[in-house]
Amino acid sequence: VASEEPRRRLRDDVVTEKRRTRSRATTSDELTIVEWIRTTREELGPADPDLLVGIGDDCAVLRGEPHQQLLAVDTVVESVHFAAGTRPEDVGHKALARNLSDIAAMGGVARYALVVISCPAEGSRDRIQGIFRGIDALARRWGVRVIGGDLSSSPGPLMVTITVTGRVEERALLRGDAVAGQRILVTGTLGGSRLGHHLSFTPRLAEGRILSTTAGVGAAIDLSDGIARDLGHITRSSRVGAVLDPRTIPLSAAARQQANEDGLTALHHALHDGEDYELLFTADRETARALSSTGLGRTRVTDIGEIVPGPGVWLLGPDGAKTPLEGGHDHFRG
Ligand SMILES: [Mg+2]
Repeated sequence: VASEEPRRRLRDDVVTEKRRTRSRATTSDELTIVEWIRTTREELGPADPDLLVGIGDDCAVLRGEPHQQLLAVDTVVESVHFAAGTRPEDVGHKALARNLSDIAAMGGVARYALVVISCPAEGSRDRIQGIFRGIDALARRWGVRVIGGDLSSSPGPLMVTITVTGRVEERALLRGDAVAGQRILVTGTLGGSRLGHHLSFTPRLAEGRILSTTAGVGAAIDLSDGIARDLGHITRSSRVGAVLDPRTIPLSAAARQQANEDGLTALHHALHDGEDYELLFTADRETARALSSTGLGRTRVTDIGEIVPGPGVWLLGPDGAKTPLEGGHDHFRG
């Protein structure tokens, strides 16, 4: 049973939710949804007491006994999130793994999935079977049960939309729990995801679960859009700033390979590519030191910066000067 403290925090979150949603800078796709939900919510009247966290975090959090419930939904679209000709098994894996990554970012345990596949008629039987094989393999690995869904033909691209539920066994990790003075940490390595990682990654459910039970851990988010943008979600939700030390950012082999091919730096790829699906989180100094030396299970954890009072996300230069870190992956610009 969750202790009273995180519950109180979650209730406080309901109060601040509206304000936070208003102040949050968003990508163009999110903006439309945020505005739509805001309108709907105003039509519905006062806040729903069963809704502990609404829009503005990786999952919605609903009141539940004995466990709070998590809800998330996500779509992958051909030619946007995967290339035409991608193995259907990989499409299924990615569609579910992105959702599980959002459960991981809340420190939750994934439970159920509802799957909607909209598929062009040509060769649809084989494709749909392949997609389900990809979903099923990953679902079994994490004890997730597919409990329903829908199939539809599509005159356009192949699309897979999955809704997942999860439960909070300890406390939910929220974007709004970063505090000045905490360190910023990240799992794994970053950058160059489009060379293959974005289709094959393992959602960090085991790591998120450990974080949710670790005292001294603050805010968390999964890296879908790149540190530049996702760290901004944490700082805005928490009303703090962040300073990253670029020398400490863990670069993936793919980030270096991309850099060799396109002339950008590996650091640029690590900061901006997105689709790393690693966990970015904050922790007090002592916890950060412990986690970055032991890792989370077999997954490395790297200390990459510090939460500071002011607004903004900054990169520390070699001379100690700070430059603003801006930009990030935009789903509509690829
Ligand atoms: Mg997320």
